[in-house]
Amino acid sequence: MRDPFGRNITYLRVSVTDRCDFRCVYCMAEDMTFLPKADILSLEELERLCGAFIALGVTKLRITGGEPLVRRDVMRLIDALGARLGHGLEELTLTTNASQLARFAEPLRAAGVRRINVSLDTLNAATFTAITRWGRIERTLDGIFAAKAAGLAVKINMVALKGVNEDEIDTMIAWCGEHGFDLCLIETMPLGEIEGDRTAQYLPLSLVRARLARRWTLTPSEYRTGGPARYETIGETGRRIGFITPLTHNFCESCNRVRLTCTGTLFMCLGQEDAADLRAVLRRETGDDALLDAIQAAIARKPKGHDFIIDRDHRRPALARHMSMTGG
Ligand code: SAM
Repeated sequence: MRDPFGRNITYLRVSVTDRCDFRCVYCMAEDMTFLPKADILSLEELERLCGAFIALGVTKLRITGGEPLVRRDVMRLIDALGARLGHGLEELTLTTNASQLARFAEPLRAAGVRRINVSLDTLNAATFTAITRWGRIERTLDGIFAAKAAGLAVKINMVALKGVNEDEIDTMIAWCGEHGFDLCLIETMPLGEIEGDRTAQYLPLSLVRARLARRWTLTPSEYRTGGPARYETIGETGRRIGFITPLTHNFCESCNRVRLTCTGTLFMCLGQEDAADLRAVLRRETGDDALLDAIQAAIARKPKGHDFIIDRDHRRPALARHMSMTGG
């Protein structure tokens, strides 16, 4: 599938639920209203939709949420998608907060998952609970080490938050080096209403990188995962560090992704409102022809890029929907 700007769309992120067992301060308000169950696609519907994307040339699927591992029977979907590896699908991955990962690590590996992203913004137990509001770091760390023991490659995603975890990045680099994990730093994006002030949280990664370069030997790397991160290698640990910089460096020109919500809405860009309702087509038609047409029509509308801005004049979110809806 080629979009109007010549970009080949090969990567689908699928949010399987909007629910989460954490309430990270930059992601959700504490008192969130979740979608009614009837609006949410069944696991069979999600599988059918993913199959249509694979038929159209998607080779990489990332299961996300909300927290994907809190969706009941999610392994049924992951097993079914895993069976498509080698038949058009080349990679099946997952983004998780790892709270449930201790019991899912082995089944994920058995389903064909080889790499996972785990969100971990701090190694400090008190800061972890302050950021996630409801989380306990022990469970997340147990999940991460269960994944490592199961043979899954782990990449840690850390959202860089001004005055919250910015002093912990060196510690995180050293810890990741010790355990053999890559690390990816992410700028906060202005998605959804939260209780705090985003300008207070925003920390430009250009600044972080300059600080890190004083202590670590960073060498730009050609490594790409198909995602938006730019990587460097850290001489001292031998591991990679990625930077996802939607605000300081727009990453849209190489965008190969689209995002499906758990209600079957397809967002062609994380940072724009335009979307296609695939659930209506899916539930109306028993054959897949109309579905394939609807997906292709949506890709033909993929916008050139987003235009996130965070500054004192733009205190409102750029978009009303939360990351947990579109899927991170
Ligand atoms: N629950 C899973 C997890 O914790 O990884 C998957 C969904 S979560 C929405 C995916 C990623 O989005 C996490 O790494 C989270 O830190 C990040 N995220 C959420 N809201 C964000 C925001 N406003 N700006 C930047 N990253 C955000």
